[in-house]
Amino acid sequence: MAMVFDRIAIIGIGLIGASIARAAREYGVANTIHLYDANPTVRERARELGLGEVFDDAEKAVAKAELVVLAVPVGAMAAAAEACKRGLKIGAIVTDVGSVKQAVVDALKAVLPTFVYFIPGHPLAGTEHSGPDAGFASLFQNRWQILTPLPDQGAAYPAAVDQLEEFWRALGANVERMDAARHDVVLAVTSHLPHLIAFNIVAMAEDLESVTESEVVKFSASGFRDFTRIAASDPTMWRDVFLNNREAVLEVLGRFSEDLAALQRAIRWSEGDTLYDLFDRARRMRREVIDAGQDTPAPNWGREN
Ligand code: NAP
Repeated sequence: MAMVFDRIAIIGIGLIGASIARAAREYGVANTIHLYDANPTVRERARELGLGEVFDDAEKAVAKAELVVLAVPVGAMAAAAEACKRGLKIGAIVTDVGSVKQAVVDALKAVLPTFVYFIPGHPLAGTEHSGPDAGFASLFQNRWQILTPLPDQGAAYPAAVDQLEEFWRALGANVERMDAARHDVVLAVTSHLPHLIAFNIVAMAEDLESVTESEVVKFSASGFRDFTRIAASDPTMWRDVFLNNREAVLEVLGRFSEDLAALQRAIRWSEGDTLYDLFDRARRMRREVIDAGQDTPAPNWGREN
């Protein structure tokens, strides 16, 4: 794979930042990888793992970098940009990986200098693990990277977007461009609401008085455990997602609550056809996800039990 950037800098060395560092190195996409994290323990660990050249100072980390990736929680994006902005090279591309786009665009536009190309992005790839040890090079393979380029950014901006797209393709991702507001609605449906439901169902099971916690854990293979994987995701990250994509999430949640009430009614009045039709439609959606290469066709995700 051809090199896309000579020097890149990654701010925030968690699951996503460490995965970008590993992938960029393994696939030969960048010559030099600079890293910075606000947490000294994380910086130390990144050094031990050999993820790249780790700096104790954000400005020094981004100096001369052609690409700067902000890989911190959504609520920390502005602070991360503030800490490195005086070191940014003129004409550098600055991108982010935040799970919410419009709020991050607003926060970063207010901080970043106009002499960089700011191109927001979001890799639809992740796991329930966090921190530098969780990163792995193949995380972005065959996953979607969404770019939400800003409108009216001048003549050289489209070429910068093309170069960033090439970078993500070289990491193994498929790239799609869309408007930030559209991204936030789509992700509210495909990611944010499913996480909210998982957090809620797992917390509810813990609080139920009629079933003991040990029974929930013991019999979890009947469905519950699949929710626990999603609900094990990082609390800081998810708090920031819901605080920053409030409108889209509330809109989708309203629709979900109505449909749930209709299901409740169908159960109460023994409307078997209603239940069957909905379950049948939902089952077909699973087939489409598999056909799109977004999950394994193996039963029970290929687990042995
Ligand atoms: P993570 O594993 O928790 O790593 C984030 C790192 O950033 C932590 O080491 C954190 O330090 C550090 N940090 C916090 N504030 C900082 C600042 N101001 N300057 C520099 N470093 C700072 O998180 P992640 O899962 O990689 O997520 C990073 C971003 O990617 C988030 O915006 C998230 O929405 C997005 N994303 C995540 C996933 C996923 O599945 N995890 C998928 C796609 C996109 P502390 O440990 O001290 O807080």
